[in-house]
Amino acid sequence: MDDNLDTKYLVPVKQVEKSIKLTPEAKAELQNIGMMDDKGKLKLKGVSPKMLKRMKLESVDCPVFQSELPFIQCYVCKNFHSRISGQVYCKGDPL
Ligand code: SF4
Repeated sequence: MDDNLDTKYLVPVKQVEKSIKLTPEAKAELQNIGMMDDKGKLKLKGVSPKMLKRMKLESVDCPVFQSELPFIQCYVCKNFHSRISGQVYCKGDPL
């Protein structure tokens, strides 16, 4: 990317019909960073319940983990830079 040196990948956000389950590791990480409570309820700062509902039905084909991941996992990923027009600006560092 020329306009953003931090960004290595532009990853399109896809719509899915059924939300992809977060892995136990992803849940533990979310709890670790205070974005999920003990009951497994997500608490993302600045994200309304309506947005959250929509985010649950989105996924990305992650170029770093080389698998399809729930967008929520991508959103809280260290490599997440921003999301513009349905594309994630991913720093692409090895994780
Ligand atoms: S921000 Fe993280 S989860 Fe999202 S595409 Fe990049 S490496 Fe994958």
